[in-house]
Amino acid sequence: MDHQEKIAVVVGAGIAGASICLALNKRNIKTILLDSDTGPAKHASGNPIGVVYPFLTKHKTTESEFSLAAFQYFLSIWDKFHLKNLVPHADGIFFLMDTKESYDRYSNAIISNQIQNHTAKESIEPFSGSPSLFFPEGKSVSPVDLTKQILTLSNPLTKYSCKLLSWKEEDNESKVLCQTSEGEIECDYLFLTQGYQFANDPHLEWLPLRKVRGQIVKIPEQKQTNTYGILYGDYITAAIDGYQVLGATFDEFKLEEEPRPEESESMWKELLTRLPNLSSLWEPQNPRLFATRVSYRTQSQDRHPIVGKLPNISKLDLSVKYQNLLRNADKKMNIPYYESVGILNGLGSRGLTHALYSAEILVSSMLEETSPISETTFKSLKPDRFLIRMWKRDQLT
Ligand SMILES: Cc1cc2nc3c(=O)[nH]c(=O)nc-3n(C[C@H](O)[C@H](O)[C@H](O)COP(=O)(O)OP(=O)(O)OC[C@H]3O[C@@H](n4cnc5c(N)ncnc54)[C@H](O)[C@@H]3O)c2cc1C
Repeated sequence: MDHQEKIAVVVGAGIAGASICLALNKRNIKTILLDSDTGPAKHASGNPIGVVYPFLTKHKTTESEFSLAAFQYFLSIWDKFHLKNLVPHADGIFFLMDTKESYDRYSNAIISNQIQNHTAKESIEPFSGSPSLFFPEGKSVSPVDLTKQILTLSNPLTKYSCKLLSWKEEDNESKVLCQTSEGEIECDYLFLTQGYQFANDPHLEWLPLRKVRGQIVKIPEQKQTNTYGILYGDYITAAIDGYQVLGATFDEFKLEEEPRPEESESMWKELLTRLPNLSSLWEPQNPRLFATRVSYRTQSQDRHPIVGKLPNISKLDLSVKYQNLLRNADKKMNIPYYESVGILNGLGSRGLTHALYSAEILVSSMLEETSPISETTFKSLKPDRFLIRMWKRDQLT
């Protein structure tokens, strides 16, 4: 289809917004990217190093199916655009299976998800001596450089220090009018990726999203150190640009921006205990002196991303009760939408692995193309799932 006359506005220049710009660029849609900050990847996507690998469950689930497909999609984009030459990174992620429970879960995940050796295989991680899953194409990567490179490939018109203040669908529902700190923009499609700042948008208030505080520390690269990422509950990345990242502590309740030195210290102690052969190679360190970064991820109630056309709950027919429909053996509820508005949020702690694929799914659905995923998996991502849950529990009034 020819979309050349269409204009899309993408709000948020993190990894989610950048990924949407790439999916729009593939379809030749003119794109304006807004961010209220002074440049891209200043918030959740602004950590110095993050890890890319898929989420696995013991039995095959929509979550593991989606995450594996998202990981493969990430790798296909990585290869297609030669990102290995452009984005600082180190290949290889070890995921320790050092308890009976984790061994049971992850070794079975390989079988139930029919994972091939080139994606993940059982192996011994040398610094812990533990059985592990090794993802040879998993990565320690700079999220900032990844976001910037995706934006370079997508080439949107960028407006930084430009905040979306409000938006509304115009009367015929085919255009959206955005009110920004720099004036009005009319567009054919609006994509919302505000991350943890979702709560400032009244159209998103009903979504069960949470802002979660995360803290990481930057350790100067040691002379002898791990050349791949290691995950053991916490994680230590491979070194990039002279630093390694040790992460992460998370807190859903207390959200202060100041670093917590005691958490840096406890992550350090855990590292020494879990990877003794690694830390024995290092000089003694004072973890309270390491550079610390606090940022906020956005997590949905079921920890799965939120990807899809945005329901318009102001148009919901609240007289339609689930219980009444059940009695008539017809459980359908008609969901009204903002026809030209899509959302990508709730990327949780897997934004780097999941954003590109989520964006491709979102853009293809907004343009009514054939979906790259099954209807069941898409249902598990759509914002509708929360609305239907609330409707069933009679929580919408
Ligand atoms: C401590 C920590 C460690 C993590 N480690 C990893 C990891 O190792 N691997 C991994 O895959 N994931 C990791 N994550 C998760 C990952 O960082 C996030 O899932 C991802 O960065 C989210 O990207 P985003 O684009 O949705 O949000 P953000 O990067 O926060 O982007 C949202 C953007 O929207 C802009 N914005 C908001 N409101 C407006 C408005 N009204 N107008 C204009 N612009 C607006 C903001 O300025 C911001 O730039 C980690 C997260 C944290 C907090």
